Amino acid sequence: MPPAITPTSPPPRSSLPRLLLLLPTATYRTTAFVEAARRLGVDLTVASEQSSTFEGARPDALLTLDFAHPDHAAEQTRTFAARRQVNAVLGVDDDTVVIGAAIGAALGLGGNAVASVEAARDKHRQRELLARHGVPVPRFQLHRLDADLEGIARAQAYPCVVKPLRLSASRGVIRANDGRELTAAIRRLAAILSQPDTAGCATDVFLVEEYVPGAEVALEGLLVGGALHVLALFDKPDPLDGPFFEETIYATPSRLPETAQRVLADTAARAAQAIGLTRGPLHAELRWNDRGAWLIELAARPIGGRCSAALRFQDGATLEELVLREALGMALARPVRETAAAGVMMIPVPGAGILREVRGVAEARAVPGVEDVIITAHRGQELVPWPEGSRYPGFIFARGAEPEDVVAALHTAHRRLTFVRDRQTD
Ligand code: ADP
Repeated sequence: MPPAITPTSPPPRSSLPRLLLLLPTATYRTTAFVEAARRLGVDLTVASEQSSTFEGARPDALLTLDFAHPDHAAEQTRTFAARRQVNAVLGVDDDTVVIGAAIGAALGLGGNAVASVEAARDKHRQRELLARHGVPVPRFQLHRLDADLEGIARAQAYPCVVKPLRLSASRGVIRANDGRELTAAIRRLAAILSQPDTAGCATDVFLVEEYVPGAEVALEGLLVGGALHVLALFDKPDPLDGPFFEETIYATPSRLPETAQRVLADTAARAAQAIGLTRGPLHAELRWNDRGAWLIELAARPIGGRCSAALRFQDGATLEELVLREALGMALARPVRETAAAGVMMIPVPGAGILREVRGVAEARAVPGVEDVIITAHRGQELVPWPEGSRYPGFIFARGAEPEDVVAALHTAHRRLTFVRDRQTD
């Protein structure tokens, strides 16, 4: 039995701890977290930005919070907590993590500092802190969108990457190999930033970074008392060379040499420390090349979408259970992933258009090693390719003896799927 690790938060005040879970209405994460809370016997209050018709009937279980204004959300929670104990608060994505930290500070729950989660949320602030603390990051420069773009293009070294400060899922991230591509990429990003659903992201500035070549990995970790526990290191076997960076396959365990894996984990731990994150989930994207490990992006949240289903830990625990245990200061065995190789494919957007039908799901599920195929896009939904888009139409999960088996099963299953679209523009 691995030794237990000591959580930092105080024990809950009653036998049934209450967790305030911040779930945006349009999230895929609900079931996994609600199920984890049920298994742990935790009293759950689910807070969302839109009120539910059931809220009046279940005032302990459902709460509406002003997700657009963290300080207001903290005030609303203080009122709620005056009548019921709240032992911990947990945001599940980039935005709700910031709200969770504000609530945690207002209620004295001892989570990550607001300044730290805000720094993690802002790609420029994150870069500044990491560079200042000697964590290897690409050279970067903040620019204004109304600046002289031709001048920026002349001064820039290539290849480079253009990105917004606060979007996610690689939305608006574009590689440029020369000045012409760079000015086109900036104009394309400007158009994305003018969309109404980018509220909250700075729309007048953007980053240009040196393009870092090399193998990309995703590190899933849990910070407990300031120490990083690596839960899984995923290889991304499909090329991510741009110009756009839609994810596809994650497979674990990583095939990188042990020494590389240690350096990557150490780089992620130093990055968390540089930003001041001490607790809770950590998701980091890193690249590995002949110059070592590079921190591409770090987030104070668990892996997104449905992808957490690819992870299973000893005694069948899910990632969400580990995250909830840490948040509530419950006993937490040192997390050890199952021995099987596992992977997930974020199904690529097949092209623009209105989704009419997905064929071949049963055939894809029948591929040996494939555990599930989940189509999250619905009939009539507009499919938007990257870099404007950010929603995968579905996910494929596989397990196997070796990561290579998993990757092969995911590719085979994907080839069996056909997305039938109207108004196809490609
Ligand atoms: P997001 O948080 O929206 O996912 P990231 O900054 O993580 O945006 O970038 C998305 C992806 O783009 C990364 O996972 C990586 O594949 C690629 N990328 C981003 N910045 C760089 C860079 N400087 N060099 C090489 N690839 C990059």
